Amino acid sequence: MREYEKSNEMAIEFDGHPSNEAFARVAVAAFCTQLNPTLEEVADLKTALSEAITNAIIHGYEGQVHKIRIECEIRGNAISVAVIDRGKGIENIEEAMQPMFTTKPEMERSGMGFVFMEAFMDQVQVESRPGEGTAVRMKKVIGGQA
Ligand code: ATP
Ligand code: MG
Repeated sequence: MREYEKSNEMAIEFDGHPSNEAFARVAVAAFCTQLNPTLEEVADLKTALSEAITNAIIHGYEGQVHKIRIECEIRGNAISVAVIDRGKGIENIEEAMQPMFTTKPEMERSGMGFVFMEAFMDQVQVESRPGEGTAVRMKKVIGGQA
């Protein structure tokens, strides 16, 4: 098998407590170091993760503490990350991903989380079912080539 065809996977599951958010994004950033990312690429990955994890905690579980799972795969020089919750789900995904759309304006949310994820990652896909949960799958090529 040639070097660039190799893939490598890891998954973590943790309580969706706000204090675990920093741990989870650092864990993914550490896994990503094998691709020799620039500081900017690491920062982008952490920002996107932070948005997805915060969404799972605040919207998915509405502040109750339940498990969040993160699945990562490195294939070639791209990292794919899925942030998965089993919370309340999203009724209308297209609408939820619009800039400035938020269902929690009273919490001073600005509705920019998905916009940041899309800005900092190369691909963002959302799967969600009301009452079942949400999976946000993101991919980023490290080093500029797939
Ligand atoms: P901000 O991220 O700017 O603080 P926000 O979280 O409302 O505000 P987005 O992150 O873009 O904005 O999310 C838009 C909307 O999508 C949320 O208001 C919420 O209704 C819904 N949403 C996002 N993630 C989830 C999730 N994991 N579970 C349930 N609903 C979600
Ligand atoms: Mg958000």
